[in-house]
Amino acid sequence: MVEGRSVIFVQLSSCWGCHQSLIDLYERLLDVLPALNIKYWPAVVDYKEKDLEALPEKSIDAGFIEGALRTDHDTHLLKSARTKSKVLISYGTCSSYGGVYALANLSTRDELIKRKYYEAESLVKGDTPSDNLPKITTSISKNDDIVKFDLYLPGCPPTSDNIAGAVTAFIQGKPVSIGQKTVCDDCERNKEEKKLVKAFKRRFDGKADPVKCLLNQGYLCLGPGTRSGCGAQCPTNANLPCDGCYGPPEGVLDQGAKLLSALASIADMEPEKLDREIIDPVGQFYKFTFAHGLIRKSVRTYLDEQNRSAEKRTAKEEQ
Ligand code: SF4
Ligand code: SF4
Ligand code: SF4
Repeated sequence: MVEGRSVIFVQLSSCWGCHQSLIDLYERLLDVLPALNIKYWPAVVDYKEKDLEALPEKSIDAGFIEGALRTDHDTHLLKSARTKSKVLISYGTCSSYGGVYALANLSTRDELIKRKYYEAESLVKGDTPSDNLPKITTSISKNDDIVKFDLYLPGCPPTSDNIAGAVTAFIQGKPVSIGQKTVCDDCERNKEEKKLVKAFKRRFDGKADPVKCLLNQGYLCLGPGTRSGCGAQCPTNANLPCDGCYGPPEGVLDQGAKLLSALASIADMEPEKLDREIIDPVGQFYKFTFAHGLIRKSVRTYLDEQNRSAEKRTAKEEQ
């Protein structure tokens, strides 16, 4: 019997949804799993971290990385996976662009800890856990600021079909293809290219026409600035606007900037009204890519200064 191609699946800070999407292949897993020689997958099989550490350098055909860098331990796991793997695959939008977790970069680490461990409504008594826990990073940086990836497979999560296609191509030694266009290119709704919008709606405003383009109806659909690959499943299957979870299309550096420019070209309103209509612009346009967008640098500089000041204050208080 030929041994399958060796793989590791590594989970950083994440929700496990990308792994779930792989499991959701159900019976099609029978085509995939026998061709894989799984060396580390603690989310599913009882592997320990020492099993990962024990693997020789470059002994693994492909490492799949899910999740973002929220702790020092995440950074350690990511570097370790890079060392062990010949090919490193960024698996899902958290790993590729920071994902929804990177919106935490809008707050300092101290503010996050205070909210989570001292102010949350479900708490009985506030306390910061520390025993046997890794250090929380000051902000969420891009995974590819730390290691080089060979392939990105975005999506929150990538669809099961995307994963099956990528893993099958990998097994067969063929190039893995990911969407090269935008969600709009795959969407079959009726579009009026020149239609101007006089007011924007939120997704729960009224009931969307199931046939016409959602953006033409005033719903904030992010299809024009989002990479294709999911089959435009939100507008097509759920009558919902695209939220942008596949990240920027090929060649676009900043998804938010691309989306803002697409909206500005169809908004028939004064800039002040546009500003009022778009509630929570960062959450709207950078929901999945805040660690990746160009504006992250200025936000990061500001937060680093805040974190440094907070650490100095704490050190002074402890003296
Ligand atoms: S990309 Fe989405 S589904 Fe995958 S781990 Fe991140 S939040 Fe979960
Ligand atoms: S904006 Fe949305 S609804 Fe309109 S074509 Fe693009 S993906 Fe489809
Ligand atoms: S339509 Fe948009 S939000 Fe929905 S799965 Fe596709 S890329 Fe993600």
